Amino acid sequence: MSFSIWNHFTKDSSSRKVTCNLCSSSFGYTRGSLFGANLKHHLESDHGEDRFVDIDDEISRLVSVDSSTQRFVDRPEFHALFPPFTRIPTRHHLMRNVMPSRVESLRQNIRERLTDQRVSLCIDQWTIKGGRMTLSCFNANFINEKGELENLHIPVSPLDGRPAADKLRSQIDDVIEKYQLEVVAVVSDSSSSLRNAVKDTLFIQMQQGHNTL
Ligand SMILES: [Zn+2]
Repeated sequence: MSFSIWNHFTKDSSSRKVTCNLCSSSFGYTRGSLFGANLKHHLESDHGEDRFVDIDDEISRLVSVDSSTQRFVDRPEFHALFPPFTRIPTRHHLMRNVMPSRVESLRQNIRERLTDQRVSLCIDQWTIKGGRMTLSCFNANFINEKGELENLHIPVSPLDGRPAADKLRSQIDDVIEKYQLEVVAVVSDSSSSLRNAVKDTLFIQMQQGHNTL
């Protein structure tokens, strides 16, 4: 159930009854009955489905700026912040459906803005201490229709282990294919994996140095 039923009902364990806070109807319950579903049915049929408010968008925006907030959504204390008839997504629904569709719509937005653009890719990589994971940052720079320089961040997943030319090369190929990019230059630092990954591309060295998180 994607909202807290206990915002709408009061439970009395001694009489094994729950009372609707909106109309004072009482319901008996026995162990193993489809209790939650019956109460939800009561709310929807007697108090109107159209009163429910979906907040999937708002929650997904919150999670996209701070992923730790996804842990709140199933907590009763979080549910208590919202007025009755707010349909708060469960964590499962949030991570399985809401966030993936948000990511896809952001990707679609990036794709549309990059259509028919000749871009310069700015790539940098950071290795987590101990070489467990490598994070890549891809920025696409291009001149838009108004003649202005635009800078778009392209989201990519972390890579397992230390930086390696073949892994980075397939990540670059993946980005080029997904976003239909026409890459005219790659800008980066002097790391050997980056150099080897893009050696058949125009390569501009930006700075010296090695990055470790
Ligand atoms: Zn009622």
